[in-house]
Amino acid sequence: MLHDTLARPLRNLRLSVTDRCNLRCLYCMPEADYVWLPREDLLHFEEIATLVDVFLSLGVDKIRLTGGEPLLRRDLAALVRMISGKPGLADLALTTNGILLEDQIDGLAAAGLRRITVSLDTLRRDRFVALARFDEVDRVKAGMNAAHRVFGAFKIDTVVIKGVNDDELSDLIEFGRPLAAEVRFIEYMDVGGATQWSPAHVMSRQEMLAALSARYGRIEPISEPASSAPAERYRLPDGTTFGIIASTTDPFCRTCDRSRLTADGMWFLCLYATDGLDLRKALRSGASVDELKELIAAGWRGRDDRGAEVRLALGERRAFVPINTLRLNPHLEMHTRGG
Ligand code: SAM
Repeated sequence: MLHDTLARPLRNLRLSVTDRCNLRCLYCMPEADYVWLPREDLLHFEEIATLVDVFLSLGVDKIRLTGGEPLLRRDLAALVRMISGKPGLADLALTTNGILLEDQIDGLAAAGLRRITVSLDTLRRDRFVALARFDEVDRVKAGMNAAHRVFGAFKIDTVVIKGVNDDELSDLIEFGRPLAAEVRFIEYMDVGGATQWSPAHVMSRQEMLAALSARYGRIEPISEPASSAPAERYRLPDGTTFGIIASTTDPFCRTCDRSRLTADGMWFLCLYATDGLDLRKALRSGASVDELKELIAAGWRGRDDRGAEVRLALGERRAFVPINTLRLNPHLEMHTRGG
């Protein structure tokens, strides 16, 4: 297995299939307009499949399809079909906002998708519209019903923002319970795109646990065998479980085995990295599989990123990338990089 300078293995690849999104969440895409990746730069499915083979040969065994909104990529099921059966792939998952899920889920499952995470920050229509700026909460809920029908269990990812949805933690847990959906609360991060981020809006893991204890009583941490998963999991007195991803106040850089491939083939080794490796250029200039393998292996061996820890050590924090810089380099955006 391939390890970086901090002995972290290359295992987990997040594959962004588009930078487009059908929501405009204020913590991710707050601006009025965006610079999009040129269409001709987007990797074709065959190119993605070639890169997937190379990554699998180097030790990656988990792939998550993301975006932007991955369900906006035409015929995503065809890509799933191309990669789901590849030897060495232990886990193929999808992160989606759920809007188009009800329509697509049967095709995705038939193509070999096994796991789904749906992002949902609020159950309330007025809040959803204010936060995501489209009136789509009903379609998201319909998508979640479909996820329950097809996969049984699934996950819900919720970004918690003080003064926005911090009073809905238990409502979301209650909503998820009959759907067998485990909610994972994510601390608001100062990633590229979050131009309105401020420390005052971050609800920390401790604060979340305090709010949930006030409602449910004793909350038990679930101890899990050493894992690189970013969520700490907890159990309520009735057995319901949930997770918290404390990426802002207690980053998991030490065990981070993730890298990200953008829809146009830039490979980033950290959510906070400012530079990536241009795999599209290598692919389209005729690099052989062995050459691609060496390029990627060399990139990972040299990896020393600890972006979230570096941010935490800053003390005084504000948005990671100012808007004018984002306009010049859309690869710094979370919706381009793949959340
Ligand atoms: N469109 C898909 C979705 O909504 O799940 C996939 C892409 S989205 C960028 C992936 C995840 O990143 C979502 O769960 C979203 O809430 C999260 N995210 C985006 N900006 C964030 C921020 N500033 N802090 C924490 N999480 C963020």
